[in-house]
Amino acid sequence: MKKIALLTIIGLFLSCNSSAQKTETKAKETFEITKTDAEWKAQLTDAEYNVLRKAGTERPFSSPLDKNYKEGVYHCAACNTPLFKSEHKFDSGTGWPSFDRVIEGNVAFGTDTKIGYTRDEEHCATCGGHLGHVFNDGPKETTGKRHCINGVALTFVPAED
Ligand SMILES: [Zn+2]
Repeated sequence: MKKIALLTIIGLFLSCNSSAQKTETKAKETFEITKTDAEWKAQLTDAEYNVLRKAGTERPFSSPLDKNYKEGVYHCAACNTPLFKSEHKFDSGTGWPSFDRVIEGNVAFGTDTKIGYTRDEEHCATCGGHLGHVFNDGPKETTGKRHCINGVALTFVPAED
């Protein structure tokens, strides 16, 4: 009898645990732009597809955007949603384009999809394309956040002068 009670408790604990996780990740996000895997594959380059759709990470220092400090806006390479502004870009020394903030509302964080997002993960709020991760070791004088973004997931649109 005791054993059954114990098993029940363990069972409850496990189910609470998994339902807690479910709450955290809650309903699957739906994206304004939704395409099939085959459609993305056809549209994106292999490198873009690997990062945006497979949550891959590009090699550090491989993106020309890492050292790009021109004025402009960084758009999603998959759906062209503006995601980051040049004024919020800084040199983190990590080899990936880094920003201290996102364009509010256009970047979403840490959901659980089949790609396997974690909580510090960030992705395009419009198409769900994986962008990179956010860390708390950004510039202290501004937000303290470091949005570490794969350059291949971004298209730079220079400001018109
Ligand atoms: Zn997008």
